[in-house]
Amino acid sequence: MRCSTGSACIRWVTADPTHPMSSFDLADEIAALAAGGLQRGRRILETPQTARVTVDGRDYLAFCSNDYLGLANHPRLIAAARAGAERYGVGAGASHLILGHSTAHHALEDALARFVQLPRALLFSTGYMANLGIVTALVGRGDAIFADKLNHASLNDAALLSRAEFKRYPHRDLAALERLLAASHARRKLVVTDAVFSMDGDLAPLPELLALCERHDAWLLLDDAHGFGVLGTGGRGMLSHFNATSPCVIYMATLGKAAGVCGAFVAAEGEVIETLIQRARPYIYTTATPPLLAHTLLVSLDLIATEEWRRERLTQLAALLRARLHMKRWRLLPSPTAIQPLVIGANDAALGVSSQLAERGLLVPAIRPPTVPRGTARLRISLSAAHDVDDIERLATALNELQ
Ligand code: PMP
Repeated sequence: MRCSTGSACIRWVTADPTHPMSSFDLADEIAALAAGGLQRGRRILETPQTARVTVDGRDYLAFCSNDYLGLANHPRLIAAARAGAERYGVGAGASHLILGHSTAHHALEDALARFVQLPRALLFSTGYMANLGIVTALVGRGDAIFADKLNHASLNDAALLSRAEFKRYPHRDLAALERLLAASHARRKLVVTDAVFSMDGDLAPLPELLALCERHDAWLLLDDAHGFGVLGTGGRGMLSHFNATSPCVIYMATLGKAAGVCGAFVAAEGEVIETLIQRARPYIYTTATPPLLAHTLLVSLDLIATEEWRRERLTQLAALLRARLHMKRWRLLPSPTAIQPLVIGANDAALGVSSQLAERGLLVPAIRPPTVPRGTARLRISLSAAHDVDDIERLATALNELQ
């Protein structure tokens, strides 16, 4: 292929112009996205991630982050990052299996396993990579994956990459899942689910899912990106929330959301973790994250466990928002978590409400397909312990006026 245009370089032409697939125009694709209200853009954040932010030169009250506990800009974490840099330098310099695995990474893995009360834990650089790594290391051709239709994109991508048979069941539909499991003759079976659904805020039916997995000899990969730190005793996450445990469970959580830093981990039985170390390509073939981040996350874990008031405030703010919003045309989904989705419907309408809020100094992202199903574009209001009661009153008043 060569680029046929000048500096813009958007039209690619193969050597054979008679071939039906010989050219395609990225500009047309982008224009089509824009026409459908689907073009995405980035705002430039000039301040740390917290409730009050400066974006593109203007101050806002923001409801956009996954920093649920308000730790991303916590002075103790900043101090720990500085101390971590002094002690370990800034770069890991190698992958975990060469010489990138430091005492800080190792201590954090031990602390995370103890925290979620599972035998062993393994760090990954991001949640996306963790999901790709777990799924592709554990299942392949001849195996089957069973996935909730509203799962995060990283779980779907992982399933496609694994080459296992990929079956999706309607959201939280246990009967449909049971039918699929019962009909399957796969060598290994892996059920995958968000614990807290990232765009809906509702919870997977964990005890029932575990019972099904045990009955059908399947693993359950539980992606607790949005429950870790927020749900359960001391923020231990979804397993603790339901007081559930099982040798079938493969627990994954991210460390860039409630934990306020970056990265992810998986916790499970020892053989599962050992298999990931041997086979998970997104673990093996990448540079370890800077040890200073693991050093910082040890402090984050302490704040998660000890500062119960952060979870209490989150619960109180979610209840207040739900009580104050008076829905006429829009639909507030029944979420008990920090993720409060307001379904508006059409892409342009959701974008319009988001920009009207921005004019009033309130940032709430509009989430559109393919992140959510077509026709269900929504505002994803995410709450944080960094918000206060007045912030919620301000948002509710604006939304009630705009409806
Ligand atoms: N799983 C879920 C459910 C998520 O919401 C996300 C992030 N949005 C991820 C995985 C990916 O995590 P990370 O941002 O650490 O890559």
